[in-house]
Amino acid sequence: MTKKTDDHKKQKTLVLASGNPDKVREMEQLLAVTGYTVCSLHEIAGKVDIEETGLTLEENAEIKARFVYEKTGLPALADDTGLEVDALGGRPGVWSARYGGPSGDAASNRRKLLKELSGVTEASDRSARFRTVLIYMTEEGVRRYDGVCQGRILDHERGSGGFGYDPLFLPDGYEQTFAEMEPELKNHISHRGRALRKFLEDMSSPDHRPV
Ligand code: IMP
Repeated sequence: MTKKTDDHKKQKTLVLASGNPDKVREMEQLLAVTGYTVCSLHEIAGKVDIEETGLTLEENAEIKARFVYEKTGLPALADDTGLEVDALGGRPGVWSARYGGPSGDAASNRRKLLKELSGVTEASDRSARFRTVLIYMTEEGVRRYDGVCQGRILDHERGSGGFGYDPLFLPDGYEQTFAEMEPELKNHISHRGRALRKFLEDMSSPDHRPV
């Protein structure tokens, strides 16, 4: 392969720094319209667990992006997402993945959330938001994009699609939980979809400058 082809390939290939197949699927759908070849870390390096030791979403996203960038030398895109529940003072937030126990099991996370909110009966008091921080790392540096989706936590699960906390999350302005929606609608309004669209706009902008 010539250096030019190699450079071109590098520019157009993105490695998603996530081991979560649900997130990888959503991100691949959202990036499908771009000219990028998208692959996941697992496709390149097999099963790897990146320790998320950061205290903020941004720190964790950067840890994941850096790990992948240093391992592959290719542009890396990492997201870290948290669910912030107002009645819980913003928890579980950055701890959302292991909220229900060290296994990180989604059903345990949802059970714990329902339990902690069991005394909170007014719908308006169950407000919450998903927040995503996306970090894009290349040889030019680091770029950050945020996405938020506001909604509330139901008192029982609804729907079998999506993943994680989706069956409990009712986005504002919609009658369906994330787990009841078609994936295209979730992608259109979700925290991750919003952050990824900012990334895509930035990439296609004529003002795009290296950081
Ligand atoms: P992480 O960004 O993979 O660390 O995700 C943190 C936690 O939030 C995990 O338990 C995920 O299952 C959950 N999560 C992340 N994104 C979503 C989403 O879009 N819907 C529901 N749960 C999510």
